[in-house]
Amino acid sequence: MKTVVLKFGGTSVGSIDRIKKVCKIIAFYKKKKNRIVVVSSAMSGVTNELINKSKLISNNFDKAEYDTLVSTGEQVSCALIAGRLKHIGFKSRSWTSWQLPILTDGPHSGARIKSVGIKELNKYINSGGIPIITGFQGISNDFRITTVGRSGSDATAIMLSKFIKADECIIYTDVDGVYTTDPRQYNKAKKIKKIFYDEMLEMASLGSKVMQPTSVQDAKLNKIDIKVKSSFVLKSGTLITGSKNNFSNQIITGISSTKNDAKITIMGVKDRPGVAASIFRPLYKNLINVDMVVQNISQNGKETDLTFTIKSEDLKKTERLIKKNKSISYKKLSFDKDLSKVSIIGVGMITTPGITYRMFKSLASKKINILVISTSEIKISVLISSKSVKKAVAVLHKEFKLD
Ligand code: ADP
Ligand code: ASP
Ligand code: MG
Repeated sequence: MKTVVLKFGGTSVGSIDRIKKVCKIIAFYKKKKNRIVVVSSAMSGVTNELINKSKLISNNFDKAEYDTLVSTGEQVSCALIAGRLKHIGFKSRSWTSWQLPILTDGPHSGARIKSVGIKELNKYINSGGIPIITGFQGISNDFRITTVGRSGSDATAIMLSKFIKADECIIYTDVDGVYTTDPRQYNKAKKIKKIFYDEMLEMASLGSKVMQPTSVQDAKLNKIDIKVKSSFVLKSGTLITGSKNNFSNQIITGISSTKNDAKITIMGVKDRPGVAASIFRPLYKNLINVDMVVQNISQNGKETDLTFTIKSEDLKKTERLIKKNKSISYKKLSFDKDLSKVSIIGVGMITTPGITYRMFKSLASKKINILVISTSEIKISVLISSKSVKKAVAVLHKEFKLD
């Protein structure tokens, strides 16, 4: 008998009709005599509505109450799924995070799952029941409700798979797998049959929303293979794995892009040891995520220019923090908005020369100006104007034979 974890995303449970369809998928697995555990997100749009409500109450809404509020959508969808399964003749019940419990570490809204209580769960599954577990939420050491980051039901599914020792973990979503780039943005995107954790982690972190980055990291650390499938159409999906069997020799596996990036340049900064740390310390204290960082080589050994990127929504706060930072001196500040990061990702680039050149040449052929570049072993990212993202994805997709 196999233990199978099935996770359904927001669109998959987005309406009563969708919930009825999802119950048919669950019934299909159950009839094959599997041990089933279901994890569900909130119905699509619900979490955003709850977040908006918190903003109407206060622009500094209490962090613990925020998690208590925004995690409620999952309780609704789980109760509806369990209710429907009972209606069609199965034994089923909902389970919230504190009832299991799903214990977390770390800050509110960005907690990480450290353990899942499986004793009662196993008893229930062994008695023929189908547990429906709230994704996204957990509880802290002091018994407050936490959430594990936006799109966090993916992480709940992976960590449940770890603790329940699942044979399979299937992420059901609204696309039939991981594509070479977002299929809703570029219609020549192709489905990827198998992708390495590291590639998926880069793609997810660099803007491919299909999997939550933390969940891919959890899967990699715990060696849990993930299948990504559609709850809308019956088609083979994508396997996310660490196993090296039957991989294609594609150099670039996928292309990701972000929205709403902003760039800050501090010109004529007094160059001394510790200056970068002095700039970034207040940003870190204010939980502002810094992404790409470039420091120019100082021409005269005294002054340098430092450029970095953040999300546009943090721009005003960052400007304020730099202006009131007494520990640095500089000549000029400049800001740019409406920027995007476009990245090519693939383990094949480690062993293939010329990838950087081909990327830059392709972008140049479309007259796309590159503002900042950053690289790692398996990815190259460029910061460009958001207006050029579509063109950039198309030309790179073609250049690296992904069309
Ligand atoms: P769910 O609600 O099921 O968790 P998400 O909205 O989080 O679904 O993720 C699915 C979406 O991810 C798709 O609708 C698609 O537009 C987007 N997406 C972005 N990049 C990719 C990609 N490379 N492959 C597939 N989907 C992608
Ligand atoms: N409902 C949560 C969100 O919208 C978690 C999830 O969908 O996985 O972020
Ligand atoms: Mg998702």
